[in-house]
Amino acid sequence: MKTGFVLNDNHTRHTLSGHPENARRLESIREALEQRGLMEHILRVPDRPAERRELERVHTPAYIDHVYAMSFEEGYLDPDTYVRDGTWEAALHAAGGLIDLVRTVVEGTLDNGFALVRPPGHHAEADHGMGFCIFNNVAVAARAAQEDMGIGRVLIVDWDVHHGNGTQHTFEADPTVMYFSVHQYPYYPGTGAAEERGIGPGEGTIVNVPLPGGVGDDGYEYAFRRILVPLARAFKPDLILVSAGYDPHWRDPLAAMELTLEGFRRLTRILMDLAEELAHGRLVFTLEGGYALDALAYGVTNTLWQLAGHPERVEDPLGHGPMATRDVRDRIDAIARLWNL
Ligand SMILES: [Zn+2]
Repeated sequence: MKTGFVLNDNHTRHTLSGHPENARRLESIREALEQRGLMEHILRVPDRPAERRELERVHTPAYIDHVYAMSFEEGYLDPDTYVRDGTWEAALHAAGGLIDLVRTVVEGTLDNGFALVRPPGHHAEADHGMGFCIFNNVAVAARAAQEDMGIGRVLIVDWDVHHGNGTQHTFEADPTVMYFSVHQYPYYPGTGAAEERGIGPGEGTIVNVPLPGGVGDDGYEYAFRRILVPLARAFKPDLILVSAGYDPHWRDPLAAMELTLEGFRRLTRILMDLAEELAHGRLVFTLEGGYALDALAYGVTNTLWQLAGHPERVEDPLGHGPMATRDVRDRIDAIARLWNL
């Protein structure tokens, strides 16, 4: 496989010591890629700042202006979401880098890829940032694929432990983008109930699988196979984007889903098979959350080894957490019945 990645060097300009979403996250990933020799197997795609017209497909002009102005003042968009001197550049490069990675995959230069970018994006709404997110990178990239690259239908899969409220709201009335999310619930940000299934012409293209903590690898895999796979087959995407947060991992300090690195491997395999079957293999991951640095670095490098066709290099030195996982098949079956599955 020809696999690519983007690593936005500008991300270090957006950081805050003591905040979980800080520059160490991406630097830990960079170190892991170098230590494990991955850079020789995958191609680096240069990043660039997103253009204003690209952001305006998702965000209001007033909000874009607000972020720009705030970058000179330093402050907070909400109690969790800081803005610093370099936030503007970092956020533009996160969105622009993902767009160009998607373009290289759509054009066929690469088979698949992973955008190693921050700040993350899936909580960012049209007119406000929240939850550590400034611009909604995956939503901006999906719109760029549709408007500039000739892509018709996009499937966005979000396995971050939190619900991607911003992504859902961007596309909830749009039948050409399907958004599928498995997340801890009830939990931050509060959205993502199973009954939220899209509105108007978009009804049936928002798919939420809210689950209690402690689900573990088997629960996530069951949700993917029982609900995502059949709905994706019916939707027939031309491109699959993945909001990949590694905060479902058992070591993560912000959540309690109890996944292992092996669990992420199984989910990645399902997505690779779906992309191959439905979307000419076009599959692009983008980084969202993940705050335990070792789990994050192993999780991302494993995903890249797998995308690049070296599944034998996937490692799980962290193993299982101390908590027992729970069987949530009944709950997933009940959600599946909402979808007549
Ligand atoms: Zn998250």
